[in-house]
Amino acid sequence: MIDIQKIRADFPILNQKVNGKQLVYFDNGATAQKPQVVIDAISRYYSEINSNIHRGVHTLSQLATDAYEASRNTIQKHINAKHNHEVIFTSGTTFGINLVANGFTALLNEGDEVMVSNLEHHSNIVPWQFLCEKTGAKLVVIPMNEKGELVMAEFDRLLSSKTKIVAVNHISNALGTINPIKEIIEKAHGVGAAVLIDGAQATPHLKPDVQVLDCDFYVFSGHKVCGPTGVGILYGKEEWLHKLPPYQGGGEMIAEVTFEKTTYADLPHKFEAGTPNIVGGIVLGTAIDYLNEIGFDNIAAYEQELLDYATEKLLQIEGLRIYGTSENKASVISFNIEGIHPYDIGTIIDKLGIAVRTGHHCAQPIMQYFNIPGTIRASFAFYNTKEEIDIFVEAVKKAQMMLT
Ligand code: PMP
Repeated sequence: MIDIQKIRADFPILNQKVNGKQLVYFDNGATAQKPQVVIDAISRYYSEINSNIHRGVHTLSQLATDAYEASRNTIQKHINAKHNHEVIFTSGTTFGINLVANGFTALLNEGDEVMVSNLEHHSNIVPWQFLCEKTGAKLVVIPMNEKGELVMAEFDRLLSSKTKIVAVNHISNALGTINPIKEIIEKAHGVGAAVLIDGAQATPHLKPDVQVLDCDFYVFSGHKVCGPTGVGILYGKEEWLHKLPPYQGGGEMIAEVTFEKTTYADLPHKFEAGTPNIVGGIVLGTAIDYLNEIGFDNIAAYEQELLDYATEKLLQIEGLRIYGTSENKASVISFNIEGIHPYDIGTIIDKLGIAVRTGHHCAQPIMQYFNIPGTIRASFAFYNTKEEIDIFVEAVKKAQMMLT
């Protein structure tokens, strides 16, 4: 069970007025708010142990290194990776996908195929287009249907021995659809293709088990799971991380450097060139611990309640259409109101203290499918309430009245 009053007290940012009104923060899909334990942990790191890691023999450097590595272990346990060196610290989802896509340059030939879906964030499209341009491989797209689901019969048809990697999101940021990734992974493995899962929108809502999923790569961002910006995770199966070349060259990722030849460090350091976001890495562990204390089962059940409640209320508004109507859906509602530009609603409700995202949500192919410029997206977190949804729905009605 969620003790909502206790949880809200953990998030100082929620308790404020924006434009003279109590803040209602429904832009969690873009970034999550931070609990006090996370804010305190950042301050504590800089007040007490700030130091470079993996380098000095001095005490502070060791304390910082220990804290950084302890966080890696926390994340390993959280996603159930087999080894802690399969957990690579990155700057975020975007970096993780680029690292893998770049690494595949050496593994693909002309005529090979790279598969993404119509439901992807631009971060999970553009790096693969770079890869295709470099190698002559072909980008193949799994289509979607009116409900915002992947058309699995088409996936089956498109998958072949030419497919070398399939990159799909676990949950769509624009529509909230939860994709059947276990089935995708199994079938892709059946033709010998690797699978990368973009978990940016899934990790705030559920605990992925990378061994049960059997995915080859799983990427996510710290800032969407109540951690800081500028840090993220790339999980990769050990054998794949051995196969991929390093992404960036520099300090920390080497075994030995001579002008004739450089050899690389072991995993995970091979992929962690330069001084990383040390505080971000450490505090990501704090954020994951915080979420696990609340419990992902509790989070999922509560968010489902919020989703059902908001969906029912919004659908009572005349002319309102929700995009993304799959039964397997996270707490995201993307919608438009007939005859009104999404941006206009977003602007008016901002004046009423409500934060939502409007636009194409970095998923233009979805907008092209529905032939719309964008949507209004309300994305709920475990610290939101039904009272906030009531305020939001009234504000949307008011905006509709003003704009028609
Ligand atoms: N993929 C998805 C599904 C996302 O929602 C996002 C963030 N909106 C990203 C990738 C990119 O994440 P980041 O900007 O943190 O790298």
